[in-house]
Amino acid sequence: MEKLRNLASDIEKVSEEYSGLTWVQFTTGFDFGIDKKYEEMMSYYTSKENFEYVRKIFDRNNLGEFEKREAELMFKSFEPFHLSDEVNKLNMEISSLTNKLSGVLNTHRSTINGVEMSSVELAQIMRNSDDESKRKEAYFARTQVNKPLFDAGFAELINLRKEYAKLRGFDTFVDLQLDANELDSNIFSSWKDELHEMVPAMNEKRSEMAGIYLGKNEVMPWDEAYLVSKIAPSLNKKVDMTEFYQVLRDFYKKFGFDLDKYNITYDIFPRKNKSEWGYNFPIAVEKDARVLANVKNEYNEYGVLLHETGHGVHHFLQKREEMILNQGISGIITEGIANLFGSFLYDESFFSRFFTDNKIKEELKRYEDYSKVNSLRAIPSIMFDQDLYRTDIKTLDDINDLAFKTTKDYLGVDRFGDQYPWGFRIHHTTHPIYLHNYFMGDVTSELLKKSFKDKFGVEKVSEKPMEFGNFLYEQVIKPSGKYKYAELVKKISGKEFSLECMK
Ligand SMILES: [Zn+2]
Repeated sequence: MEKLRNLASDIEKVSEEYSGLTWVQFTTGFDFGIDKKYEEMMSYYTSKENFEYVRKIFDRNNLGEFEKREAELMFKSFEPFHLSDEVNKLNMEISSLTNKLSGVLNTHRSTINGVEMSSVELAQIMRNSDDESKRKEAYFARTQVNKPLFDAGFAELINLRKEYAKLRGFDTFVDLQLDANELDSNIFSSWKDELHEMVPAMNEKRSEMAGIYLGKNEVMPWDEAYLVSKIAPSLNKKVDMTEFYQVLRDFYKKFGFDLDKYNITYDIFPRKNKSEWGYNFPIAVEKDARVLANVKNEYNEYGVLLHETGHGVHHFLQKREEMILNQGISGIITEGIANLFGSFLYDESFFSRFFTDNKIKEELKRYEDYSKVNSLRAIPSIMFDQDLYRTDIKTLDDINDLAFKTTKDYLGVDRFGDQYPWGFRIHHTTHPIYLHNYFMGDVTSELLKKSFKDKFGVEKVSEKPMEFGNFLYEQVIKPSGKYKYAELVKKISGKEFSLECMK
């Protein structure tokens, strides 16, 4: 086992260097040899000698429960590299094209009337502008990256992934990804029906709110953020972001997590050639985590900082000696923990620092009611991401048509433009079949909170933050790599995963 762990540790070292290079690319646009480093990392996996050793351990029948899991995780990560040279060649091509396309996305800037606009500026227009045509302009400005992304090879990327999945023996790339993440490919089968059940109540509530706040009877995509601003205007309060670190440090301390003890680097303001998203780069477990974000000056922008810091803390709480088990941590748990911290944006334990009156409480109550009814609206984009791999994609129109068709099929929303803003969402390029993690992460964090509240007899987890921090560590973080997601969620909540708690 020692040798197996050493092998994992050697790979980890190269992978840390690889992550460092991607951090540079995402924060500056410079590529200092990502493809080459990826090749170096892959050479560990393609080595016949390494694979023979991994297989030997995997075939042993005298391993303990967690050793067995380590052996399985290692075997699973090596096995695909020993099918054929063609598979390995395709894998390299996919990685290289993904890297090229993420460069396109990271350095692209949308413009309005010839003026460059950052993602946070577009978001602020959509939240704040009383002029619907301005909001619409900002919303569609996000579609500007579709064509450059397509021209750089987005369809080729989708098709290479499809081919790769076939060669690996899977029906679709979706099945391959779910298998890699230890998820059953049937988990989504009931979602469409469950969403359809919710749509009438959802539309009724949305229409009611549109009547009150927008003076019309439906909420268009460019009204979504604006409507939230009308329901809870305090969320747009101007804040001084230069003090963000103290704010985060004081907040996380309440749960027993001391950011001063970790090494989390923050790069949070927009800059030319920097990715417009929010990320945590888990560079090296227990040593180095880096947060990329794009914020400006509004209270709500703390949501992303809370989320990414949640990732950073989770990363520092993992153990280096459990390097192999850490690979088995489900993306649902990772995003669930991050979303859990992100959701404190709406909790007094966080907002009390910024708001002293009670107005925000009433606003957030209304917001909560509204967002609850909309909770399943995340489903269409998850399905669009999957259906890219179940649909013939040749032209830019094929992608736009699929995006609008999905919105129609799932929500009954008619086509509302020439182009759909799909390209700007970097996940389709860099993290395919990943979006379900946020949504299922939310479901999981609801289950977790419920289990804590029942056990500790509180109404909100923030009433006992120290206990909750400890609970989170013991029940979720510590065992998170040791079990598959489905087993872990059962251990935490005593229940199987279901969408019930989101309705
Ligand atoms: Zn995240």
